[in-house]
Amino acid sequence: MRVDGRLAGRRIAITGGSSGIGLATARMFLEAGAKVAIIGRDRTRLDNATAGTAAMALSADVRDSTAVASALAAAATGLGGLDGLVCAAGINVRRAVEATDDDVWQNLIATNLSGSFYACRAALPYLRAASATDRQNASTIVTIATGGALVPPAPHIVAYAASKGGLLAMTKALAIELAPEVRANCILPGNTATPLTQEIMSELSEEQRRRKLGAYAMKRLAHPEEIASAILFLTSHEASYMTGASLSVDGGRIYH
Ligand code: NAP
Repeated sequence: MRVDGRLAGRRIAITGGSSGIGLATARMFLEAGAKVAIIGRDRTRLDNATAGTAAMALSADVRDSTAVASALAAAATGLGGLDGLVCAAGINVRRAVEATDDDVWQNLIATNLSGSFYACRAALPYLRAASATDRQNASTIVTIATGGALVPPAPHIVAYAASKGGLLAMTKALAIELAPEVRANCILPGNTATPLTQEIMSELSEEQRRRKLGAYAMKRLAHPEEIASAILFLTSHEASYMTGASLSVDGGRIYH
């Protein structure tokens, strides 16, 4: 896909930009002319992701609001401001309800929901400042929930679904509060071929895997770039009238 110039001059921070969907997004955004800062925990992964590119790599744990605020301040300083934020940092832990102990529950909520909130709150002054100087282009937030936030596809995802359902509601509430300066939209991906999914797929039997893929009209997992291109669309001016939207990118998940 040709993306040249679609984000020319836009300055974007991407949490979880060192792997999977976030990494595919960072690469596509750079190709589209954006200036990019990625945020993650693992230094090696961050360095590998940015090697040979102009992207900034910032280390922060999104569960730590102070660390997130420092990372976003550093991103804004390094990029010369912030026009957009993508919240892609996330984890998935599958557990039966009785096996979802306090640590599992709190870690999922802290990473997927609180982490995204901390990033949005810390980015907001920069996003508002950018839209004040460029009234043609609203600043943007894109969050990554999951199709499972609307229709849980399988058991053992109560905590994950709760964290992502909260994220979806949070994004819609942000859209109401921040318009027209900032547009906030949420992507609901289906299963995507990333390290996170590989781990889950490796625990399934051949039959379970066939059933999982069979749930998609497209009969396959998404490529991370297929989610990234939807994030690019929502971040670009092509989506200038979209805010508070939830966009399913799930290969036509037709049954569960
Ligand atoms: P991934 O390949 O495992 O990448 C996750 C990214 O999040 C990594 O960059 C990781 O960096 C970062 N991260 C995780 N915990 C963090 C923390 N506490 N602080 C800072 N960074 C953290 O996962 P993915 O599949 O691309 O998933 C990206 C997002 O899409 C997640 O929110 C996930 O829930 C969502 N999603 C994925 C799928 C799928 O099938 N893959 C489907 C629906 C939704 P470190 O390694 O440095 O921690």
